[in-house]
Amino acid sequence: MNLQAPDKILNYIGGDLQSPINGKFMDNINPATGWIYSQTPDSDYEDVEEAVGAARAAFPLWSTTPAEERFKILNRIAELIDENLDALALAETNDNGKPLSLSKRVDIPRASSNFRFFATGLLHFSTESHHMEDKAINYTLRQPIGVVGCISPWNLPLYLFTWKIAPALAAGNCVIAKPSEVTPMTGYLLSIICQEAGLPAGVLNIVHGTGPGCGSAIVQHPDIKAISFTGSTRAGRDIAAVAAPMFKKISLELGGKNPNIIFADCDWDKMMRTTLQSSFTNQGQICLCGSRILVEESIYEKFKHEFIARAKKLTVGDPLLDDSRQGAIVSKMHYEKVLSCIDLAKQEGGTLLLGGKAVNVPGRCENGLFIEPTIFEGLGAECRTNMEEIFGPVVTLQSFKTEDEAMQLANTSDYGLSATIWTQDVSRANRVAMNVHSGIIWVNCWLLRDLRTPFGGFKNSGVGREGGWDAMRFFTEPKNVCIEL
Ligand code: NAD
Repeated sequence: MNLQAPDKILNYIGGDLQSPINGKFMDNINPATGWIYSQTPDSDYEDVEEAVGAARAAFPLWSTTPAEERFKILNRIAELIDENLDALALAETNDNGKPLSLSKRVDIPRASSNFRFFATGLLHFSTESHHMEDKAINYTLRQPIGVVGCISPWNLPLYLFTWKIAPALAAGNCVIAKPSEVTPMTGYLLSIICQEAGLPAGVLNIVHGTGPGCGSAIVQHPDIKAISFTGSTRAGRDIAAVAAPMFKKISLELGGKNPNIIFADCDWDKMMRTTLQSSFTNQGQICLCGSRILVEESIYEKFKHEFIARAKKLTVGDPLLDDSRQGAIVSKMHYEKVLSCIDLAKQEGGTLLLGGKAVNVPGRCENGLFIEPTIFEGLGAECRTNMEEIFGPVVTLQSFKTEDEAMQLANTSDYGLSATIWTQDVSRANRVAMNVHSGIIWVNCWLLRDLRTPFGGFKNSGVGREGGWDAMRFFTEPKNVCIEL
């Protein structure tokens, strides 16, 4: 198989690759160069309607295909992702602007892990039975829902796309999926992989387009009974408003403003190395990045100076080069948003300690969208910079005196996706983990991920935990059968 990014991306509907019915395409820009990388369909409700028809037709067979056979196909998809690592990583970098080394090391391997995990998971998926002493036996059937919708963002394009699609397919559903219109290429290449792997026609349909044009048609379609969405809190709110009155199942994985809480007794070197990563990996465009760094007062100055010195050394450059640690910001619109957030932080009285400006990368990237790693201090916990998600290479530093104050600062945010705690004191780590309102807490590490664990946020970061059996269960309808003895 020779997987190559085409000039024109097509929808994958009913097993075929086709242009959108309205014939409209949009430019897909490489943010590192400013060049047009491909054309991508601007699909609308008509394409979604056709995809739903194909999915409904495929459902009776797919939902009753023996587990062993479904396993083989989904596992083959994982193998083909591995075999095409280089082509997929390059496509993702050209779509997204992230360093190629990061795509190769993290994003694409994790996409194949998603398929492998849920392919093997479906072989072991089981349901419960409850005995009422000598009166009755209840057993729970967990049947696939039918046709479900999966909508994903641009920051980890193939990883988050497959994180939704794989459990939905493993649970026996047929899927209408939409990758972000900003980074559609790896979603398209996944279509080719699915054809090669022998996934039956209509089981997975990938429709490309914008949120308002195509995403909302998926959310509104009456035959799509569940929506799994990852993206902004704003879009999540709109989706919930449409889906809730239609009684659809919804899982929303939304934004974050994650605290990184550093106590004086931490393992200094490990904390410094990891904090640099958790602040600036993928140009800070990971929902799990720690954008509010809370440091115990006694080590605040030492931390500040060393953190600035280390962040200064991060090379901002062409994402295709091995030594580039920071690539491009994903799109012109987002680049302008991040720069405006930097201006806001200054207006709010923040002291700029590092960065704050666009970077000109000469050569093929001279028209690219690059921003320096940026660090602020001196901002109050409740100012907009510390409350609103920026989703770029911008962090703030705040100091705290006591454990209670650290927890209070951590919980000031309306978001509750993840938090990181740095301390060698296990009791304190447990206390803080227990009291910080976040769905994922890392102690002395960051971004470690066991696919069996629940994943998701509290508060404005979302509803509906995904991960392990929870993810497959989300895509099923539990039905209780009670038999009187
Ligand atoms: P976005 O909300 O703009 O778009 C996400 C997806 O939803 C895209 O495919 C888009 O086309 C579609 N969409 C937008 N509006 C829609 C609507 N009304 N109906 C249906 N579909 C719609 O988000 P983005 O800018 O692509 O991604 C960045 C955001 O995603 C950040 O807020 C980040 O924190 C969040 N995110 C969260 C997680 C998590 O696991 N919690 C993971 C990654 C990213």
